[in-house]
Amino acid sequence: MDLEKKETIEGMKDEFYRFWSKKIGVPENKLRPFYDKEFDTEPLIDSPFEVPDKMEVFFKYSYGGQSRFFREIIKNKKLYGAKCPQCGKVFCPPRHACPKCYVDTTWIELSGKGTIEAFTVQYYSTSVFIKKVPFIVAYIRLDGTDFLMMAQMEMEDVNKAKPGMRVEAVFRDERHGTINDFYFRIIE
Ligand SMILES: [Zn+2]
Repeated sequence: MDLEKKETIEGMKDEFYRFWSKKIGVPENKLRPFYDKEFDTEPLIDSPFEVPDKMEVFFKYSYGGQSRFFREIIKNKKLYGAKCPQCGKVFCPPRHACPKCYVDTTWIELSGKGTIEAFTVQYYSTSVFIKKVPFIVAYIRLDGTDFLMMAQMEMEDVNKAKPGMRVEAVFRDERHGTINDFYFRIIE
């Protein structure tokens, strides 16, 4: 390819990305890897011509049978479990129905206290929690329940965590209906 033609193509490319980036609000460098082939190869004139576009999706997600668990956290700063009326097992995280007895569970208020059964120290994380590393993710058996809940813990010195330690739920001042509305800390 001669230099003049190459410069013309580079100019067309730049113009193409400038235009589409502005039109759909996506940075040029995000678009480039996907559309360069239109310019770098010579596609058949009748082959599909692809241009960038963007789709945004907004939707409502339902907590379904676990709804009350999140409402109790937001409104009352309380943890609730779900009890099977037949076998008596208490689930937390709650379940709408007992997987063994196939009957609906009923809500039961928990103290929010429990015991660490196992834990791991996180040194890496997604961007949501990166400022908190290192932090502890623990399997906690809440008092009055028969299952383990995986939850985030906050403690000054992560090296002090041990299985068997007693913990309690702490509710954040700002609660939005997510599992991060609370965390556990060691009961001193
Ligand atoms: Zn049951």
